[in-house]
Amino acid sequence: MNCPRCQGSLEELSLGDVSTTMCPHCGFADIPVEHIRDGEEPESWRDAFNRFYER
Ligand SMILES: [Zn+2]
Repeated sequence: MNCPRCQGSLEELSLGDVSTTMCPHCGFADIPVEHIRDGEEPESWRDAFNRFYER
């Protein structure tokens, strides 16, 4: 599975009960729709991913 933006390899992540795929190259993230709300900043997900990688 490749990134629709940059065609790089996507990585699969599990955060609690949520699993998603993200691109470590350009930051694209396939975020489940139910977790997107109007006005919600994508940076909050970036922070979550950053914490995941820092562990
Ligand atoms: Zn990408």
